Amino acid sequence: MSFNDDARLDSNRVKDSRGRRGTKIAAGGGGILVVLLAAMFGINPDMLAQFGIGGEPSTEQTATGAPEIAECKTGADANARQDCRILATTQSLDSFWLSYLPKYNVKVAKPGVEIFSGRVDTACGPATSAVGPFYCPGDRVAYFDTAFFADLQNNYGSDGGPLAEEYVVAHEYGHHIQNTIGTLAASQQGGTGANSGSVRVELQADCFAGMWAGYAAQTKDANGNTFMKPLTEADLRSALSAAAAVGDDRIQKAATGRVNPEGWTHGSAAQREVWFLQGYKTGDINQCDTLSSKNLNKPGA
Ligand SMILES: [Zn+2]
Repeated sequence: MSFNDDARLDSNRVKDSRGRRGTKIAAGGGGILVVLLAAMFGINPDMLAQFGIGGEPSTEQTATGAPEIAECKTGADANARQDCRILATTQSLDSFWLSYLPKYNVKVAKPGVEIFSGRVDTACGPATSAVGPFYCPGDRVAYFDTAFFADLQNNYGSDGGPLAEEYVVAHEYGHHIQNTIGTLAASQQGGTGANSGSVRVELQADCFAGMWAGYAAQTKDANGNTFMKPLTEADLRSALSAAAAVGDDRIQKAATGRVNPEGWTHGSAAQREVWFLQGYKTGDINQCDTLSSKNLNKPGA
């Protein structure tokens, strides 16, 4: 889905910490925190490590010449740059969720969104890019390192279209919605496995991402101009390819050659696709009840 060129962006909406010098991670404790984070909100770092992704301490950057979110001003910028696309997608998500949830008498505040490079300190502890994108309920911030989107394409087989990236942003925003309505805590129940609380929470975030995708072409900027063009078939394929690319079976197979449902935390590729589509087609939060679903392969069954 591409943005309308004249949609207006507010670069203050997203915190940009890429140019900051020398963020330090305390020695010792970081690993455990990152694993906890990843198990709840991101991608299993062990799997990522097997792909050789992330984990390297980034070289300290100077602000000189680094991309800055302040340069993102319009939808045209969002069509051209990944960081601007995170900003624009966030604003479209704000427009959708802040008008949708009040219909159910649910008050929702915007989540924080931060783009970082290499590593970042959060209320959930320090994290590196190896965790993948994640949402921290402690500070209500979704964290993104744009390097992940290249990994998603090159190492996981997402098709690299803009909606692949937008899906990831919408999924993390979905965790904020879960934090707001109280379903996020279910990720702590039941350990891992095909029917675990973790899988159910992740599939619900996919369903919420699909809901946004279905409404995205109606979301508006501060001037009343729509953010996005209507979703095309190619856009839908991009989103589904990204959802499938981060399916547990796909990642396990690539890493170990085997599929072990007992280790699942996010759901299979097919399940992630089908729940994204469920949200997309129904546009109804009540149809995203993965927590009590009897068959996660068949929404509504
Ligand atoms: Zn997630």
